[in-house]
Amino acid sequence: MNRFAIISDIHGNLQALQAVLTRMADLDVQSAICLGDIVGYGPSPKECLDLVVRCCSVVVRGNHDEAVVDLRCASEFNGAARKAIHWTNQVLGPMHLDALNRLKYVEVIIDDKVTCVHDCPVPGPSDYVHDSTMAAMAFNGLTTPICLLGHTHIPMVFEAPACRAAPVTPANVTTYRPIADEPIKLHPQQRYICNPGSVGQPRDADPRASFAVLDLDEMTFTVHREAYDIAGTQLETQRVGLPNILAERLAIGA
Ligand code: ZN
Repeated sequence: MNRFAIISDIHGNLQALQAVLTRMADLDVQSAICLGDIVGYGPSPKECLDLVVRCCSVVVRGNHDEAVVDLRCASEFNGAARKAIHWTNQVLGPMHLDALNRLKYVEVIIDDKVTCVHDCPVPGPSDYVHDSTMAAMAFNGLTTPICLLGHTHIPMVFEAPACRAAPVTPANVTTYRPIADEPIKLHPQQRYICNPGSVGQPRDADPRASFAVLDLDEMTFTVHREAYDIAGTQLETQRVGLPNILAERLAIGA
C-alpha cells in the first residue's frame, strides 16, 4: 500500500489536528507526512509537536518552526505572527526546541519520487507557490515527479509536462483547485506540485481543517476538509494571551 496522509501548517491548533488525525484513521493510510509550520500562531505548540512527531513518518521544517528556534528570523513576520513566535519560544522547553531544530528543510522520499518541502523547492522572488508563474519556476528546479508543499494555507494542485526537454513556462502549467473528497488524477506523463492546505489556519474562506491523501497506487491526490471545535481553539488562544486577531481569523478561514 502506498497511501499517505499529508498535513501542513498546523500552527499550534490542537483541536484541528486532533480532528484531522481522527478522520485519517478512517482513510486507510499507512502513515502521515507533515510539511511543516507545526507551531506559530496557535495556543498549543507543545501538544501539536508531540502528536506530529508520534504520528508522522516524515516531517519537514516550516518558516515558523525555524523562527521559533532562531528568534532573529522573527523580525520578518507581521506583528501578531511575531508575538506568537516569541510566545511559542517561551513556552517550548529545550527538548521541544531541539526537536524543531533537527527538522530538515527538504526530504526526498519513496524511491526518489516525492519531494517534501514547506514552501518552495527553489529560491525565487517569493517562496509562496500560489500561481502558475511560481509553480513553473518550482517545476524547473524539481528532480522528482511529485512535490508536496504547504505554506500558502490554500489547497492547490499544479500540473506540468514530465518531459524536461524545454523549461516549464506558466503557460504549460495547469492549476486545479481541489474540491473536498474529489480525487485529482495524477497522470504518469505529467509532474505535480500538490498543496494539502492548512490544518490549523485555512485561508481559502473555508474554516474547516484541510489535509490530503496521496495515493501512489491509484495515483490520486484528494483534499479532505474536517470541521473542528473552532470556538475551543479561539478560547484557548485568548486564555494564553495571544493576539485576538489570531483567534478571530479561524472562524472565517482567512
Ligand atoms: Zn504556515
